[in-house]
Amino acid sequence: MSVRPVRIFGDPVLRERAREVTSVDDTLRQLVADMRETMQAYGGVGLAANQVGVAQRLLVVDVPVEEDARARHALINPVVKRRGGSVSGEEGCLSVPGLWEDVTRAERLVVTGLDEEGRTLELAFEGYLARAIQHEMDHLDGVLFVDRLSPLKRQFLRRSLDALARGELPEGHRPPPERGGPGGQL
Ligand SMILES: [Zn+2]
Repeated sequence: MSVRPVRIFGDPVLRERAREVTSVDDTLRQLVADMRETMQAYGGVGLAANQVGVAQRLLVVDVPVEEDARARHALINPVVKRRGGSVSGEEGCLSVPGLWEDVTRAERLVVTGLDEEGRTLELAFEGYLARAIQHEMDHLDGVLFVDRLSPLKRQFLRRSLDALARGELPEGHRPPPERGGPGGQL
């Protein structure tokens, strides 16, 4: 396993629509293992394959759901089957370091896909976990959370985003471990 560098705002791979995974094989499982290790090393709670430069439809999450329990999933070719409710909450992104903003998302959703053994999954998500899954699925479509903010808010962030695109990372780029819970970067 190895930690792969997380791509930062301005990298074109973050704007690619990732391709369907066609074969769940050892190469893909290696990628899953690397993504989990990378997510952990960066203190994140979710990661999409584009964020490590691989435009394939694959995401991982590792979200604390209650005391001493975490929801850990690898989802390949995820598709939303149902969604319900609407809720606003704060998000941060490993690829857009230093920015934390409220984003409105579905409150709960049902997603189908494959696990890393190629088995079909149908999973129901709610709370912060539902937010994390939607954030990562956006990545697979080349969408970043800042795209979901109001034009006024985006205008306000323009200078920070331009700086990231130039390769200037903010102070404390790596988040402290205590942000690695719900509300951690995705
Ligand atoms: Zn993200």
